[in-house]
Amino acid sequence: MDYVSTRDKSRKVSAAYAIANGIAPDGGLYCPTAFPALTAEDWHAMANLDYKGRAARVLGKFLTDFSGEELAGYAAKAYADDKFGGGNTAPVVPLADGKHLLELWHGPTCAFKDMALQILPHLLTASLRKTGETRTACILVATSGDTGKAALDGFHDVEGTKIMVYYPVDGVSPMQKLQMVTQEGANVEVVAIRGNFDDAQSAVKRIFTDEQTRAQLDRDGMMLSSANSINWGRLAPQIAYYISAYCDMVGSGAVKMGEKINICVPTGNFGNILAAYIAKRMGLPVGKLICASNRNNVLTDFFKKGGSYDKNRDFYTTTSPSMDILISSNLERLLFFASDYDDKLVAGLMDKLAKEGSYQVAAEVFAKIDADFDAGCCDDAQAAETIRALWENERYLCDPHTAVAVRVYEDYRARTGDKTPTVIASTASPFKFCRSVIEAMGGTLEKDDVTQLDMLTGLTGVPAPAPLAALAGKAPRFDRVVDKADILSTVSLLKDL
Ligand SMILES: *Cc1c(COP(=O)(O)O)cnc(C)c1O
Repeated sequence: MDYVSTRDKSRKVSAAYAIANGIAPDGGLYCPTAFPALTAEDWHAMANLDYKGRAARVLGKFLTDFSGEELAGYAAKAYADDKFGGGNTAPVVPLADGKHLLELWHGPTCAFKDMALQILPHLLTASLRKTGETRTACILVATSGDTGKAALDGFHDVEGTKIMVYYPVDGVSPMQKLQMVTQEGANVEVVAIRGNFDDAQSAVKRIFTDEQTRAQLDRDGMMLSSANSINWGRLAPQIAYYISAYCDMVGSGAVKMGEKINICVPTGNFGNILAAYIAKRMGLPVGKLICASNRNNVLTDFFKKGGSYDKNRDFYTTTSPSMDILISSNLERLLFFASDYDDKLVAGLMDKLAKEGSYQVAAEVFAKIDADFDAGCCDDAQAAETIRALWENERYLCDPHTAVAVRVYEDYRARTGDKTPTVIASTASPFKFCRSVIEAMGGTLEKDDVTQLDMLTGLTGVPAPAPLAALAGKAPRFDRVVDKADILSTVSLLKDL
C-alpha cells in the first residue's frame, strides 16, 4: 500500500515513512492510495477474534510494510487487558430507540484517544527503524484536552522519542489539566498557550513547516513527528473499532451480517468520523455517517450549506472542549477521497482556507460527500438535558461530548424517520468532565479538584475509573504559559529533555 500527500500525489511513500514523518513536507496529510476490501474471509475470521486480533487484522490491510506478527504483538501490548477495561476494550452498549453506544474510553486516560495512542508509540518506533531513521523523534502535540494526556501516557519514557504537548490555557477541563500537568516521565514537556485550540494547532503546524527550526533540530540529532490525527498512525487504529463494533452487533443479533448501520460521531478535528468513513469505503455496511458538533458548528454548516466551509466566525468555549475547533484538519482527507484523489483541487482549497479562512467545494464533489453524511449540532443546554434524560430514563451516564452525539442522533431520527440501528461513539468517561455532568444532573460543585469524582459517584453510584482516582495527591510538574506568538521559542526546550 502506497501513501501520498493530499496536496501532491506525485511522490509515493510507505506507511512507515508516513507514520514516522507525521505530515507531508507540502503541509498535506498522508493518505492510502486505495481502500482495501473487507472480504468474507476477514469477517469470518474476525467474528472469533478478540479486539486485539481484529485490530491487528484491520491494520494489516493498510500497514503492508509491517508483518502480521509485528502488528499482533503491538496490539497485544497496546490493548492489554490490565490497561483496557479487563479485556472489554471497546464494548457496544445497546440502549433504547436504535442507540448502540460504542464505549471507547476504557483505556488508561479515559478518552477514545487511547484507542490509537496506546498503539502509536509501537508503530512509530518501528517506523523509525524501518525507515533507517537514527535521530530522536520529537512528538509535538496540539491538544484540546484529551489527545495531550493520551499521547503523554503512550509516549512517556519510550526510547528514541521526546514529547511536547501544547494546550489552550483556558480551554481544557480541570481534570484534563490535572492529568497533563502531573504526567511522569523524563522525556515529556507540557506547555499552556494563551489562545484556543486552533491557535495551538496552527502554531504546531508552523513549527512543522519552519525550515530553520527543522534544520536546527536536525543538527541536534532530532526530527519532528506528530501524534495528532494528522498522522496516519493515529487514524488507522481508529478504523478497527467500527469494524469490531459491527462484529459484536452481528454476534449479539442486533443486526444481521450485511445489514446496514448508521454511525454518529461527536466531531472536532474530523479524525474519528473519517475513520468510520474509511471503514465504510472498505465495505462496512454503513448508511449514514452522522457528524455531530457542539456550538462550534462549522462542520454542520459545511454539510448543510452545500460544501461551503467558513471558519470566520465566533469561537465558543463549551462543555465539550475536545470539540471546540474551527479548523477540522481531517476534512482535508475527505476532500481528497471524495474528489478521487484530486491533489490540485485540495491544495487550492487549503490555500484558500489559509488565506481567506473559507472555501467552497465544487458541486460534483460535494454531491458525493452529501450521499454519505448527515450532520447536526446542539448547544450546552441541550447536551446537559441529554445527560440528565439519559440518566433518568435509561440509567446510562454519559459525558458531554457523547451527549452531543446522542442529541444530534435523536434529532436526526426524528427529522428523517430513519430507524437504522446506529452506533454512537462514546468518546470519554463522564468522570473526565465531572463539573458539567454534575451540573447537568442538577448538582452544584464548589471545588474543581479530584473530590468531584466522589461527588459524581455519590450522585449515581457509578465508580470513578481507577486512573482518575489515582490523580489524588499527585503534584503538578508543569506550569509554563506562553503567548501563541512565542511558540517557536519553546522548541529549544526539547534539547534538554
Ligand atoms: C478528540 C475528541 C473528540 C473529537 O474527535 P475528532 O477525531 O477530533 O473529531 C470528541 N470527543 C472527545 C471526548 C474527544 O477527546
